[in-house]
Amino acid sequence: MHCPFCNKADTKVTDSRLAAEGAQVRRRRQCSACGERFTTFEICEIVMPRIIKTNSRIEPYDQSKLRRSISLPLQKRPISADEIEACISRIEHQLRKTGEREVSSKILGEIVMNELKTLDDVAYVRFASVYRDFQDIGQFQAELDKINLPKHGESS
Ligand SMILES: [Zn+2]
Repeated sequence: MHCPFCNKADTKVTDSRLAAEGAQVRRRRQCSACGERFTTFEICEIVMPRIIKTNSRIEPYDQSKLRRSISLPLQKRPISADEIEACISRIEHQLRKTGEREVSSKILGEIVMNELKTLDDVAYVRFASVYRDFQDIGQFQAELDKINLPKHGESS
């Protein structure tokens, strides 16, 4: 990179080491023209796609918002905070894996539903019933059937 002192293009790395517990690379550089030394840091850029809302507004991805919408259906369920965090990591991984700069909130909702389904059946149905805003009871029942919960009005 260019020397920040004299702007010459020719600088050399004199030292390179890990910093911030391995999350950064710290490099000492020296300008071959003016001899000044400076430090650069290299960090990994983790880009989360932005979220396109149903009203077409685009918002930055918000982890705390995701945590809230996952924690709500998980209330009083035997799922630890660690499991919730791991679930959030998996959802974020899938979001990044789309490779898109923008992802619709519908797709995010589908990813969340699939993750909840593997995490906890009850939380999944709670979330799905709100998220999908079921058009009719048959659609809701179809979701229930998939996870084998007892149906209403059926003697067992
Ligand atoms: Zn220089």
